[in-house]
Amino acid sequence: MKLILLGAPGAGKGTVAKMLTAIDGSVQISTGDILRAAVKDGTDLGKKAKAFMDAGDLVPDDLIMGIMKERLKEDDCKSGYLLDGFPRTIPQAEALKVMLTEMGEKLDGVINLSVPREVILDRLTTRRTCVGCGAIYNVKSNPPKVEGKCDACGADVVQRDDETEEAISNRLDVYNEKTAPLADFYRKEGNLMDIEATSSDVVVAAIKSKLGM
Ligand code: ADP
Ligand code: ZN
Repeated sequence: MKLILLGAPGAGKGTVAKMLTAIDGSVQISTGDILRAAVKDGTDLGKKAKAFMDAGDLVPDDLIMGIMKERLKEDDCKSGYLLDGFPRTIPQAEALKVMLTEMGEKLDGVINLSVPREVILDRLTTRRTCVGCGAIYNVKSNPPKVEGKCDACGADVVQRDDETEEAISNRLDVYNEKTAPLADFYRKEGNLMDIEATSSDVVVAAIKSKLGM
């Protein structure tokens, strides 16, 4: 399947994307993961992106489009992809539309996950991420078996630099201002599916049934 996952930070895009990859072998493409890896490796891209990310601001559109142009050409995209955290602005959505047309590809749909703000705030402050494989934990509802160590790969499980209260509140404001308008953009294009993001299992079941799987 080829889907865009829209939703506020903490809506569960990453978790849902990981569950969907298991169904049909499509790949999760998270611009956030790609950027965090670049920061960790100290690449040019990482150096340019870090300050924006730590503040909870968006990384400039031209950097993001540069990443995605390359990423969507990779071989593993042939079995489908789940775009997690991209596009995030109207210009990115417009540029993606042009890119897909050029590649002769069509999306199966755009999933819009909606979650109340209180739930999101609680989730983000308690969320922890593995620095090795990107696995997501929650100190309250889903802690790693050994504190601070990933069950899957043993690497450190940490709070992200942009998961301080201040950065989180900024990320939610940025989301409302820059990214929320994408729902209307795709509704007009006729391929938006609104889903209440209660639990990841319910979301995955709803997506499967909407796609007739
Ligand atoms: P979340 O969805 O939890 O906010 P992500 O991991 O998707 O987090 O993104 C982390 C940060 O990476 C964002 O706050 C932003 O700075 C940057 N980023 C990721 N994807 C994009 C994008 N498509 N456009 C601009 N910035 C992005
Ligand atoms: Zn791990």
